[in-house]
Amino acid sequence: MPRVTMTTSPADQFLCFYCGEWRPQAESSDEHIVPECMGGSRNVTLTDRVCKECNGFMGKNVDAHLCRDWFIQRERSKLKIKNKGKQPPWFLSRLVWHRPEAVHVYVLPAGTWLFRITGTPDGQPRMMIRVHSPDPAEADEARRTWARDFSDCRVLPDPAGMSDYEVALLSDFKATTSAQMEFRFEIKLDAWNRGLAKIGLGLACLTFGNEYVLTEEANMLRAFARENDAIKRQTIPLRGTGGYAWDAEPRITQLWEVGEGQHLLLLLAVGSGVLFVWNIFGQWETTVAVALTDKFNDRLADNLGLAWLVDARAKKTTGPMSPARLPLKGAGK
Ligand SMILES: [Zn+2]
Repeated sequence: MPRVTMTTSPADQFLCFYCGEWRPQAESSDEHIVPECMGGSRNVTLTDRVCKECNGFMGKNVDAHLCRDWFIQRERSKLKIKNKGKQPPWFLSRLVWHRPEAVHVYVLPAGTWLFRITGTPDGQPRMMIRVHSPDPAEADEARRTWARDFSDCRVLPDPAGMSDYEVALLSDFKATTSAQMEFRFEIKLDAWNRGLAKIGLGLACLTFGNEYVLTEEANMLRAFARENDAIKRQTIPLRGTGGYAWDAEPRITQLWEVGEGQHLLLLLAVGSGVLFVWNIFGQWETTVAVALTDKFNDRLADNLGLAWLVDARAKKTTGPMSPARLPLKGAGK
């Protein structure tokens, strides 16, 4: 059956950015194009043109994975960026050891270290806690934090008794952590790329309107962001799979100053198409093509581009504006 490509509909319906379906107005919900945990705000990047179902799906399957990434968590805790009123523990990284279980390390105030162990044979996460503070009040605060945020874990050692598995796990853990600890810093590219596809799609839909929502490019981004299908991912013109900005070549945002705690989002007319570029916390940069023809270029400022600056700490987004209005690197210094 041919896809319906109407771009207008009865007044009480809207075209959802993320599923490309007409939905009754009552099913629309507020969506943060940039996830709240990354400082997305209730102003320009927010839209009521996403259906409740897609909003919930993207929040759970795309935004949440991105927000759990160690890099985002590290920046958030460094910059004290709260999400739903909560500040994340300082997520250090994954511990390198010889066992198959994954050990993620969190650092709480007062230097308390939490080692959350997942991938156990019975599926029950375990936790080891190291309290370094000599101050009992700080140690208590740290314990309350883990009880609240990590209540799914069984804490070892347990004076009431442990299984043979737990005894062996604890012994190996002690041996590993008594020596110099080694950590593995991994970016989950999958989560990053889906997040990128979602944000690029959202901004392009917002900018170009219903005419864009049903284009082939939008369908490709949508299919990838929704399904995370490896084959569909290959159809997405992601330029590189992301990288630290200083590794990405060419680094598109090197022209502009991205302040501490800020993200720079750009829709740029490049060649015959439109490229979405994001620079996250001034450190991470990736691009994805959101339109492959110049059909939409004239909707960009001066046929050049549009920019949004997200101040993650203030939860304030400025834009869209012409990139000509962005602060230039090195200017005024
Ligand atoms: Zn939808």
